[in-house]
Amino acid sequence: MAMESSNVLLASSSALKMASGGGRNGPTLVCAPIMAESVDKMVANMEKAKQGGADLVEIRLDSLKSFNPHEDLKNLIKECPLPTLFTYRPKWEGGQYDGDEKKRLDALRLAMEFGADYIDVEIQVAREFNDSIYGKKPEKFKVIVSSHNYLDTPSVEDLGNLVARIQATGADIVKIATTAVEITDVARVFQITVHSQVPIIGIVMGEKGFISRILCPKFGGFLTFGTIESGIVSAPGQPTMKELLHLYNFRLIGPDTKLFGIIGKPVHHSKSPILYNEAFESVGFNGVYVPLLVDDVAKFFQTFSSADFSGFSCTIPHKEAALKCCDEVDPVAKSIGAVNCIIRRPTDGKLIGYNTDYVGAISAIEDGLRGSHNSNNTGDSPLAGKLFVVIGAGGAGKALAYGAKEKGARVVIANRTYDRAREIADTVGGDALSIADLDKFHPEDGMILANTTSIGMQPKVDETPIPKHALRSYSLVFDAVYTPKMTRLLREAEESGAVIVSGLEMFIGQAYDQFERFTGLPAPKELFRKTMANY
Ligand code: NAP
Repeated sequence: MAMESSNVLLASSSALKMASGGGRNGPTLVCAPIMAESVDKMVANMEKAKQGGADLVEIRLDSLKSFNPHEDLKNLIKECPLPTLFTYRPKWEGGQYDGDEKKRLDALRLAMEFGADYIDVEIQVAREFNDSIYGKKPEKFKVIVSSHNYLDTPSVEDLGNLVARIQATGADIVKIATTAVEITDVARVFQITVHSQVPIIGIVMGEKGFISRILCPKFGGFLTFGTIESGIVSAPGQPTMKELLHLYNFRLIGPDTKLFGIIGKPVHHSKSPILYNEAFESVGFNGVYVPLLVDDVAKFFQTFSSADFSGFSCTIPHKEAALKCCDEVDPVAKSIGAVNCIIRRPTDGKLIGYNTDYVGAISAIEDGLRGSHNSNNTGDSPLAGKLFVVIGAGGAGKALAYGAKEKGARVVIANRTYDRAREIADTVGGDALSIADLDKFHPEDGMILANTTSIGMQPKVDETPIPKHALRSYSLVFDAVYTPKMTRLLREAEESGAVIVSGLEMFIGQAYDQFERFTGLPAPKELFRKTMANY
């Protein structure tokens, strides 16, 4: 298993050319699943799918409450403004139909006769179905033969055998949908997709399989599914069409597109995909940036070990573990003990780790103290001599403590786990506290406070790391949390008379630096600010 998953993408780059000229004949299509209780609702949704930019619709006949094949199929095909794919999924394959099998397959044959473009049939009945339409297939009509695995993703060998069995049924297009237990499972489906000699739809279901739905054009996938509305999915993990087309710029993804992503757990709250994808498009850079929900960082890097991913951002809780996976680490990141940006060096594929967090946060705090936005002041730091209290001793905490010390501040680290605070204090040269003692800690007025824990982050927006009355001793309060932008901590700090600096400023600051490392191009700073102002 380990052998087959490591280096699994090594072969893929060279195979991409094969895929684009072999299995796939054109761009990867966007298919909108249409699930509704009535034909009228389906027709209304087909129009929405067209408006949303879909190339075709998948009409899920098994979602209809009542179904009169002759009349309804004719209507659906006549009214549909897009090419049609008909699926009549039985319960035994994860669908909703549990009636007579003959009636089910008759309806699909009828759809073909009435002018459907595609039919999806399950591998278990595909040979029988294909035999029954032999010699009767209209020229443009294609049969997708599908297999769904709702438990896991088999080995590359087993997937390869499955594809061969599907092909042997007479399929025009192969569809394999598996389930991601870990994100690394997706690499096996990419490998199968890129090597396929027939058109193939390779989907890995579930949140951890999300990237299979976005990145399939790079690997030669025939189509992907994008829903009309969020939450109304026909299989777990589907993005909306809007996300596909506008957030991930799906139409621009191809074999040469460079892949980037943010490694984290959780990661769905991250605004980085919005920021980088807009910025890539604005400067004409052929790249796409995706969320990577990673359990085990070392396994992730081992599995996606080729040049397919060019760079990564790294967030909670992986910044320290990621450092250990890097072949080389920038000296500043080494001192901090955490990386938030990793570049795969094109010349030798080695992973180089950086920490851009501290630059973003410290300059935002300095700007806050100076009362200016985007200050270019190069004189003494307004942090010099100040008492700087950092809450949290993770990656961001270390970065802030290191950065403040560099600027001449006196640093105190307060953490839930006191020993971790002590460790950083000893490394950086400062004092340590337990987070519980912050309440009574007010040796002087005019201190700076920086929260670097996730306390107060969505959805727990009512939480705060320090009682309001203790905020009176601080002249500036910074919160690394940026979802929401105005945390309870910042609100209470403002009410207590402190200057507040949002985590969004840190976010934008660290992103400037990462963008330049990813692309070699200057970051579109104004666009970053504008994009983030909308969220
Ligand atoms: P991390 O390495 O996992 O560290 C988390 C820290 O928070 C640890 O010190 C942990 O204490 C503490 N903590 C977590 N939950 C806690 C709770 N319920 N009560 C008390 N302490 C708690 O994470 P990180 O990478 O440093 O990130 C921390 C936060 O900063 C996240 O919210 C992240 O989104 C944010 N951040 C924002 C930006 C930005 O650009 N604005 C950049 C980086 C990070 P223990 O040591 O006791 O476990």
